[in-house]
Amino acid sequence: MIYKRSSALFAEAEKVIPGGVNSPVRAFKGVGGTPIFVKEAKGAYLYDEDGNRLVDYINSWGPMILGHAFEPVVKAVVEKAKKGTSFGMPTEIETQIAELAVSMVPNIDKIRLVNSGTEACMSAVRLARGYTGKDKIIKFAGCYHGHSDSFLIQAGSGLSTFGVPNSPGVTKGTAQDTLLARYNDLDNVRALIEANKNEIACIIIEPVAGNMGCIPPVEGFLQGLRDLCDAHNILLVFDEVMTGFRLAKGGAQELFNINADIVCFGKVIGGGLPVGAFAARNEIMNYLAPLGPVYQAGTLSGNPLAMAAGLAMLTELNADAEVFKRLEEKTAYLHVGIAKVLNENNILHTINRTGSMISVHFDGATVIDFDTAAKGNNETFKTFFHGMLNAGVYIAPSAFETWFITDALSYEDLDFTIAAVNTVAKTL
Ligand code: PMP
Repeated sequence: MIYKRSSALFAEAEKVIPGGVNSPVRAFKGVGGTPIFVKEAKGAYLYDEDGNRLVDYINSWGPMILGHAFEPVVKAVVEKAKKGTSFGMPTEIETQIAELAVSMVPNIDKIRLVNSGTEACMSAVRLARGYTGKDKIIKFAGCYHGHSDSFLIQAGSGLSTFGVPNSPGVTKGTAQDTLLARYNDLDNVRALIEANKNEIACIIIEPVAGNMGCIPPVEGFLQGLRDLCDAHNILLVFDEVMTGFRLAKGGAQELFNINADIVCFGKVIGGGLPVGAFAARNEIMNYLAPLGPVYQAGTLSGNPLAMAAGLAMLTELNADAEVFKRLEEKTAYLHVGIAKVLNENNILHTINRTGSMISVHFDGATVIDFDTAAKGNNETFKTFFHGMLNAGVYIAPSAFETWFITDALSYEDLDFTIAAVNTVAKTL
């Protein structure tokens, strides 16, 4: 494929935007080469500035669960835009999306809408600290909760891609309050709690990790965390920025039948516009300003265009009882197909999958935490990534990312992808 125009656009961008991108993983640093500039997208396909068509497995890192330029979303945004784009005052549609989200997600009474997943997680932790009166938090190595200071400690995703476990600029004081645990290791969490008695406000976790590739929780892990939280007056925060409205209507809480105390959302809830949210039961949410003492705010929070997109998306997901089943079936089909051709080509690999989240690790060992994820062969991944790109399939430009399946993918698209893997596998 030819990427002449993308290369030229990237060179221009680099002059005025740090690294040419507005979010680091877009830069292709982990895989080398020049990022693809998107011109437009429809359904399961991206069309780049050079006129190439790519089958999209990133889907804006999750939100395009029903495909790009999904008609009801586009229509809702266009209609709303004609009536004004921001007021900084209450609008009815904010209540409508909140009511719908509360009806879909178990165990929440109220939801506060923000502008990104970062804001959602940052605010959730502040709320947890304010509510419990404790300062420390536990996070898991390889989990990403946005770029707020407390979370940039072994945060997976872009940080792992670039080999910077922690970001300069985060003060020692802040880092000190973030305790780091191993994913899927209850004993490790228990030991941290014992060593920090009555100091831990919350445990924040991606209930299915998606930022070190896809890593599902092992049997009993989430329940174990729930029990530890109950025993020690710690709040359990599920970061469902990836899993929310994707794994099930009610996200990971529903899928695993575990109640979290605070749930964070992003991505799908905005239908592709900048939206995040955090939610909990009344007793916790009433601690937020203006009802309670924990401050959190936003000029563009509940923005009408973002609400229109999000409401159209959630309405569709709520109405289509089969969508999560279809997504799972498509992902399972892809899983089986890719495993078959990689096996036939003797490529050492592990595929992890939960629902419509899937990733391929180029290592034979079981991948259950950041250390095992990091063992994947990055050189193989780079060749794989560029081979897939040349074959017309766009996966995340990092071995530490998950593929997000969209319902817009047809079985022909999946077969096309599996055939591409087969071709590329011969070059690995
Ligand atoms: N939490 C998780 C689990 C995420 O995957 C992300 C983004 N990839 C975030 C939080 C941060 O969301 P945003 O990029 O919208 O700030």
